[in-house]
Amino acid sequence: MASCIFCKIIKGDIPSFKLFESDKVFAFLDIQPLSRGHALVIPKYHGEKLTDIPDDYLSEVLPVAKKIAQATNAGAYNILQNNGTIAHQVVPHVHFHVIPKPNETEGLGIGWPTQATDMDKLKALYEEVKAKM
Ligand code: 5GP
Ligand code: ZN
Repeated sequence: MASCIFCKIIKGDIPSFKLFESDKVFAFLDIQPLSRGHALVIPKYHGEKLTDIPDDYLSEVLPVAKKIAQATNAGAYNILQNNGTIAHQVVPHVHFHVIPKPNETEGLGIGWPTQATDMDKLKALYEEVKAKM
C-alpha cells in the first residue's frame, strides 16, 4: 500500500535497522523504544488488523519474535499486537512488538482491569464463541 509507513520500510523507501527478512516477514528496531531491544515484526502483506492477514504470513511471525527475544538477551519481555485505535494501534499495518522488560519502569506498562466473573454469562459466551470456531 503506497501510503503505508511500514510498507515503505519493507520496500526500503524509509530506512530501518533491519534485523530479519524473509519472503513473508520483516523485522526491525522500533524507532521510539520502550526499552533496549524493542523491535517490531511485520508481515510483508499490507493489512490493518490481525484478521486481515493470511495464516501463512502469521505463522512465520512468532519464530522471528523468539529469535529477537533471544538475540537481545531479554530475560523478561512482552509480545504485543494492537488492533484498532482504541486498542492503541497507531500504524495501520499489522505489527508485533517484542518489548524487553528489564525492570519495573522500562518496557511495557500494563493496566489489567479484571471484571467480576458471572459463570452463567461466561458459559453462554463460551457456547457462542465455540460454535463459531
Ligand atoms: P502501535 O501503537 O501502532 O502498536 O505501534 C507503532 C510502533 O511503530 C511505535 O512503537 C512506533 O515507535 C513505531 N514506529 C512508527 N513509525 C516508525 C518508523 O518510521 N520506524 C520505526 N522503526 N518504527 C516506527
Ligand atoms: Zn502496509
